[in-house]
Amino acid sequence: MLKDDIIKAINDAGFDEYKEISSKDLIFSEDVFGECAKNTCGNYGKNHSCPPLSGDMQENMARFLKYENGIIINKIVDMGEFYEKMMTATKEAGDALQNLRDLLEDKPVLIAGPGGCRICKTCAAIDNEPCRFPDKRQYSMEGSGMDIVSMSRKFNMIYNAGDHKLGYFYIVMY
Ligand code: SF4
Repeated sequence: MLKDDIIKAINDAGFDEYKEISSKDLIFSEDVFGECAKNTCGNYGKNHSCPPLSGDMQENMARFLKYENGIIINKIVDMGEFYEKMMTATKEAGDALQNLRDLLEDKPVLIAGPGGCRICKTCAAIDNEPCRFPDKRQYSMEGSGMDIVSMSRKFNMIYNAGDHKLGYFYIVMY
C-alpha cells in the first residue's frame, strides 16, 4: 500500500515525527508569499520553485489539492545557542529530504520541503531561462504559500523544540 511505503520511507530517512492529514487540512496564506518577498533566503525570483516564479496562489494550491491525502513530516535540528550550528542543521535537514526523495523516487507522490529546487547547481531562473527539468522540479512548502507555523499548531507538531532546537517541515502528498 502506498501509504505504508511512504511511512516506511519517512522512518528510514530519519525524521522525528509525522502526521497523516487530508489535503483539505492544508493551510495556504498570501502572507507567506509576503514573507518570501522580503527575500531573506535569497531565492525570491531566483528559483523556479519559489515566488513569484512558483505561480500564483491558485496555481500553487491546485498543485497540492489534486492529491487526496498528505503526511506532514518534521525533523528537529539543533541550531546552537548563537545559531553557530545553522549550517550543519540545514545540511542535516536537506540530507533527510534528499533521502526521502530517493526512497520515494518511483512513487506517485509530491514531496515538498524547505528551500527551493536543488536539482541544478544553478537554477535556470537566475539567467531568466525556463526550468530545465519541469517534470522533476522540487517544490518548497513556503514557496508554495503554505503556512507551516499554523499547520504545525493545528496538528500539534513541534515547531520550536526549545534548547535552540527547531523543527524543519516537509510534506508528502499522495
Ligand atoms: S530543475 Fe533546475 S531549472 Fe528547474 S527549478 Fe529545479 S534547479 Fe531550477
